[in-house]
Amino acid sequence: MRKHNIFDIPWKTFQALPLEEKSAYLAHRDGTIYHTLFAQQFDEALLERLALLANAIRAIAKTRAGTAFLQSQVCHKRAMLYFSQPSSRTFLSFISACQILGMKTAEVRDTSISSEFKGESKEDSIRTFSSYFDLIIMRTPEKGLAEQMAWTLSNSDRPIPIINAGSGPDQHPTQALLDIYTLLRSFERRGGLRDRTVVFCGDLLRGRTVRSLSYLLTNFSNIRQIFVAPEPLQIAPDVLEILDKKGVSYACSNNLQAVIPEADAVYMTRIQDEWDKSKGESARIDTSHFKFGLNELALLSPRAIIMHPLPRRDEISTEVDGDPRAMYWRQMRNGMWIRTALIAMVFGCEHAILDYHRANF
Ligand code: ASP
Repeated sequence: MRKHNIFDIPWKTFQALPLEEKSAYLAHRDGTIYHTLFAQQFDEALLERLALLANAIRAIAKTRAGTAFLQSQVCHKRAMLYFSQPSSRTFLSFISACQILGMKTAEVRDTSISSEFKGESKEDSIRTFSSYFDLIIMRTPEKGLAEQMAWTLSNSDRPIPIINAGSGPDQHPTQALLDIYTLLRSFERRGGLRDRTVVFCGDLLRGRTVRSLSYLLTNFSNIRQIFVAPEPLQIAPDVLEILDKKGVSYACSNNLQAVIPEADAVYMTRIQDEWDKSKGESARIDTSHFKFGLNELALLSPRAIIMHPLPRRDEISTEVDGDPRAMYWRQMRNGMWIRTALIAMVFGCEHAILDYHRANF
C-alpha cells in the first residue's frame, strides 16, 4: 500500500489551491513530510522536531560508531540531484547529507548533455529518474516545476519524494529551514525564537530565500520583520499580504543604519541580477546604502547575529567576517545537518535516530 497521499485531483485544480491546502497532499499518510516543496508545509512543531533531529544527528556523527549507525539508516536508497541552475552550497550540502545517511547519489547538472537536449520533456526526464532512484532533489529556474513533478510522480506507478532545492525566484524551502535552525540555535539559551526583530536587506523582490524565511518566521510568536531595500527591489506585495493576514508586525525602509540597532538578526542578501529583464537593469539601481560594513557593525547590538544565504558579493564586507556575530559560515554548515534531518524524516528514520541518541549520549 502507498505510504503517501495520492493527488486524486487534476493538476490544474491542485495548482490553484492555496499553498496551505496543498500541504496535506504532500505528506505521508501519517502526516510526516513526503514531498518538500514550499515553506508553508512547516509549522513551529515540525520545525522544532527537525531542529531536534538535526542536533541529535550532529552529535551522533561525532563518533565512529555513530557515523556507521547513521550510514546504515538509508543505505538501501539512492538519490538523484537534478540541478539545472548553478549551486555550490545547496548541492554540496545535499550530497553530504545523503552520504551521512549512507545514500548513494547521482547528478544531472548540465541538461545539454542529457536527453533534454534531444527534446525530451522535463516530465519524461523526471519519470526516468524515478525508475532508478528513490528521491529527487531538484533546483530549476522554473517556478512551480518541482510541484508539477511531485504531482506527476505521486500519480505514477513509481511514486518517489521530491525535495525542492530552489525553484526560480519563488521558493527555497530548505534554505529557510537552515535559516530557522540557525536562529533557533542562536537564541536557544536566550529565551528562544520569540519577541525578536529580523531585518532583511538587499534584493528582497527576487531573493527566494527571503520569501521562504519570511513565511517560516510567522510560525513563531511576535517576530517583527523589517524589509530594507532600494525601492525597485523592495519585498513583493504578496509577502506583505501574508504578514497582514497573520497579524505579523512589519515595516519597509530604505535606511539600513536606522534600523540596525533594533535588530536581533540582520539577514543580508545579494542583488539577484540573473533575473534582470533588460541588460544592466540592476546596475542602474543605487545599492550603495544596502551594504553591511564596520560602520553598520558598530550599530549592531552585541547579542544580535548577521546572516546571509550566500553567495555574497560585496554586501557584507569581509572585515565583518571575524566578528562573533557573523553567523553566515555556521549557517552554511547548519544547512548540511538540517537537510540530513529532513531526508531522515522523509525516509522514516526519525525515531531510530532519536532512540540511538538517547541511548548513547
Ligand atoms: N543561494 C541562495 C539561492 O540559491 C541565495 C542566492 O543565490 O543569492 O537562492
